[in-house]
Amino acid sequence: MHNILVTGGAGFIGRHLCQALLDEGHNVICVDDFSSSHPNDLGPLRAQTGFQLIEQDICAPLDLPFKIERIFNLASPASPVRYQLDPIQTLKTNVVGTLNLLELARQHGARLLQASTSEVYGDPLTSPQHESYNGNVNPIGPRACYDEGKRCAETLCSDYRRQFQLDTRIVRIFNTYGPGMQIDDGRVITNFVAQALNNQPITVYGDGLQTRSFCYVADLVDGLQRLMALPDHNGEPVNLGNPEPVNMLQLASLIQHLCHSRSPLFHRPLPQDDPLQREPNIERARQLLGWLPSTPLSEGLQRTIAALQSRLEQDNACNNAQSAQPDTVQIL
Ligand code: UDP
Repeated sequence: MHNILVTGGAGFIGRHLCQALLDEGHNVICVDDFSSSHPNDLGPLRAQTGFQLIEQDICAPLDLPFKIERIFNLASPASPVRYQLDPIQTLKTNVVGTLNLLELARQHGARLLQASTSEVYGDPLTSPQHESYNGNVNPIGPRACYDEGKRCAETLCSDYRRQFQLDTRIVRIFNTYGPGMQIDDGRVITNFVAQALNNQPITVYGDGLQTRSFCYVADLVDGLQRLMALPDHNGEPVNLGNPEPVNMLQLASLIQHLCHSRSPLFHRPLPQDDPLQREPNIERARQLLGWLPSTPLSEGLQRTIAALQSRLEQDNACNNAQSAQPDTVQIL
């Protein structure tokens, strides 16, 4: 049993990870500044034995009065819409925040796992992407705050390993989905599902032939835990993702089918620097961790749709209750 810090623990992947760690009997210290989540998102996690919350931005150094053995650094907005809202803060979180956590790991002699991203490959010129591919990132484009922030965080982890022999591990996470995603995060799965359920046009950016590989969140969390648990690791990054790409037209059609929706497709311009292809080579994860994602896309999507549908129903019930309230008259 370990004391484990999970930064960004209130986010979509963070919450699933916190729950999995608690289920294994660890103490979990969740650090989050709620910049892209809400305390209510933590739901039943908060009441569980072994769970502790620290509300803090990781750009400020953390001072912990107890010893920690492991750090999962998941703190950063991750959807393109969210991370571009305040790009300088996104960069700071990934660079200054990661630096602070590496210092904390040194103080505590802790192992640190850095949540990196397939975005370090930018708009890749080769496919599938192997960890040895150095990427094709536009350093001055609108996605650079995230891509370059995550690349710099990888550099910091590698230099702390070389200079201070710190035990750092880097995972490159490809598109992840599942129950608990925020309906308004702007990502393709949440947009398409919300639009299909509301019978609104499905917004396909560009021609819809760009590909992504979607990994179910429980599979991803399993991979994160396996990498953290490895007794020894040489620090090389590890891709975690589903090796089966789909294009956005295929995804839209699957979601229309699963939602029994007649929503038409509506094409909008492709955002700048939007990668045209993304597909992980997961040979390293398979060999090192014995890891393979096991949830088929249609099955994971059904669970995600059910969760988003109940969320939409709650929101609608709430809005109806509010509009049923008689107008209040302000008496001066
Ligand atoms: N996309 C889309 N319609 C949407 C939202 C996104 O066609 O309503 C496309 C987007 O252009 C990209 C892909 O879906 O090619 C995945 O986008 P997302 O924002 O989910 O994440 P990304 O993989 O780009 O980080």
